[in-house]
Order: sequence, then C-alpha cells, then structure tokens
Amino acid sequence: MTSPGPLPDETAAQAVLTPGRVEVMRPRDVPLGGPRAMRVRRTLPQRQRSLVGAWCFLDHYGPDDVSETGGMQLPPHPHIGLQTVSWLFEGELEHRDSAGNHVRVRPGELNLMTSGPGISHTEDSVSETGVLHGAQLWVALPADSLDTEPRLDHYAPPPVRGPGWEARVFLGSVFGHTSPVATHTPLLGAELMLATGATKVVEVDAGFEHAVLLDVGRVTVDGTDIGPGDLAYLPPGRHTIAVSATEEARVLLIGGPPFGEAIVMWWNFVGRSHDEVARAREDWQEQLDGDRVRDGRFGVVPHRLPPIPAPPMPHVRLKERR
Ligand code: MN
Repeated sequence: MTSPGPLPDETAAQAVLTPGRVEVMRPRDVPLGGPRAMRVRRTLPQRQRSLVGAWCFLDHYGPDDVSETGGMQLPPHPHIGLQTVSWLFEGELEHRDSAGNHVRVRPGELNLMTSGPGISHTEDSVSETGVLHGAQLWVALPADSLDTEPRLDHYAPPPVRGPGWEARVFLGSVFGHTSPVATHTPLLGAELMLATGATKVVEVDAGFEHAVLLDVGRVTVDGTDIGPGDLAYLPPGRHTIAVSATEEARVLLIGGPPFGEAIVMWWNFVGRSHDEVARAREDWQEQLDGDRVRDGRFGVVPHRLPPIPAPPMPHVRLKERR
C-alpha cells in the first residue's frame, strides 16, 4: 500500500480517553491512489499516537465491491525503513517487488515485506476478486536493522480455537501459538474471531503496549465499547486483555514493547531524519523516466501503470514522532 499524500491527514484524528485507560482511536477516511481511488480507514499514525510497539501505520478497508471501487491498483512505489504486512479477510491481491518476489496475497496468510534501505513494489486486486476486505500495516525497522536485505516472508498460520473463538497468530506469540517469522523488534500480530456473547481473555506480555482493531461486529475491550474501524489502545502493564463480543466479531490484535526510537514518517518512507527522507525522495525521483523506472536504489518492478512520483517535500523540516 502507499500513503497518498505528503503526510497522513491527521486533522480528523480524535481520541477518547475512557476509564480503564483504554484509548479509543477513531479512523479517518483516506483515498488511496488509483484511477477510482479506493478509500481506506486509517487509524495509525494519529496526531496523539504514532506507534504501537513498532507498528506505525494501519489502513483498514472494505468489504468493498471491486466493481464499484475499482479495487486496489497500486503502481510501483518505493519504501525505506519499514516492513509492510498485508492481511486480507476477503479477496486476493497480487504482490510484486523489486527483490524479485511475485505472490498472491490470500486471506489468513501473512506477507511481510522488508524494505531494508530501499525496495519498490506493486499491489493489485486480482480480476477474480469481487469483494476486497483487509488491512495493511507497517512496522518501523529499528536503527540497527535499517540495512537488512530486502525480502518477503510468507506464513499461513494454522487456526487455534477455543469455545466461541478462533485465532490466527501471524507474528509473535499469543493464544498458545508462536509464529516462526522473525522480527527485528518483539511484535505481536493476530486475528481473533468471536461468536456472539463470547469473551476471550487474552494473556499478553505486560512489557508490550497493544491495540485492538475492530473489523466487523461489536466488542468491548476491557469493558470499553469499540465500534467497527476503531482502534483501542492499551498501554503497557497489562497481563490480560478481555475481548467480549456483543455481536459476532473479528478483530486484529497488535502489540510490541514501546519502540523507543524517534522516527520521521513522510509519504512511503520511515526514516530517522528529514535529510534521510529527502535523500530517499531524490533517489526515487532520479529513477523515474516518464512511464518507466530506471534501475537504482529501489530496483525495478514491472507494472502496466506508470510509477507513482513522490509529492514535493514540505517547506518545513519533517518532525520526529515518538
Ligand atoms: Mn506500499
């Protein structure tokens, strides 16, 4: 996925502090690139919170009728300093990247792309897809992993089940299952489905902060009512998180220890400084040659549409997020 503007639009960001220290972050509607501009609901970053562990970006979309929205059509665009996670509930995407990976992204399967110092990729809903429904998340790479090799990890977690619930753990360890996919900071990423009336008390690492995205249905998180598309933030210090479904529901649970490093986010880049991001922008722009991409830092990935040019840098220096 790609961030469409110079900076995520945070004007509509709201936070509601409720008793029990569950902070409910409401999504804002953002158009993605593409001819018919499919819309997504963005809950990270927000003005008051940029990160949950190393998770620094969360777009939630659908269920969308692709014949109406045009689906996802993301031509070549670059990334630095991050990993992307595509997690689908319905539909299928085709992923290609400059590290030579070409895969189908299917519901319930993790595709984790690591940018390292530079990667470019494309994402498109496939022609057989009638309904597209899922999430895209970014993970910030810590400073000592910024030079790691660009790569794509794929993992299809087996479902783990109990009375009234079913989960798929794609990163980290929870619900008695551990994902084999290596991460650069400790991370948690899981999907949880709950039957109406079911409560799952999730045992979590008290050193982690967590967030719960409600996809569909209705839940309370530690007693706080959450609406579809909302992200409930829980600070470190909890050993359990109680998720109760007042209607059949599906949530994503993410977490990690507080990131502890300041980052600069602009467009599709996660950097440590304004200058590092400005350099990445220049490097991408230098690779653009009309409808084609020349080889360079971000490599080359084939696509029927021309690459996405970077927007102009803002006139002010990018500010650090913590
Ligand atoms: Mn992308």
